Amino acid sequence: MTGVIVAAFFAGIPAYYMYIRGVMLARNKKKWKCHVCGNCCRLREIEVTVEDKKKLDAAGFPDAYIGDKMRRVNGKCVFLKDDKCSIHKESYRPEICGEFPFFCMYGMEYMKVVSFCPATEEFLKDKK
Ligand code: SF4
Ligand code: SF4
Repeated sequence: MTGVIVAAFFAGIPAYYMYIRGVMLARNKKKWKCHVCGNCCRLREIEVTVEDKKKLDAAGFPDAYIGDKMRRVNGKCVFLKDDKCSIHKESYRPEICGEFPFFCMYGMEYMKVVSFCPATEEFLKDKK
């Protein structure tokens, strides 16, 4: 029994840390500035929702996705041109693109810490 309590305690520490960090990030999110490097459009597979697909279809881009992922050409999203998103201001840009690197869990906002994103690295350095 003691072992279970100790295990539960240690398993809870990362969750608590994430919770605190989530609060801090939500509060300081305005300081986060994208470097527009395009890495997230090259190094991730972009998932599209049913709603994203409907919008892309209606905008005349039914080939922009394959299954539940954005189509990739030469190792990057089909809409990435010169390191910039060519549909950045369009309403049919997939929802997940506007959210990265933030995500919501249990009503709290978090930031994914990913080595390829210089903006998150900078943000975390700034907060130390
Ligand atoms: S749609 Fe634009 S923001 Fe989204 S992955 Fe493609 S290039 Fe990047
Ligand atoms: S990897 Fe980060 S800094 Fe680069 S474009 Fe994506 S969100 Fe912006």
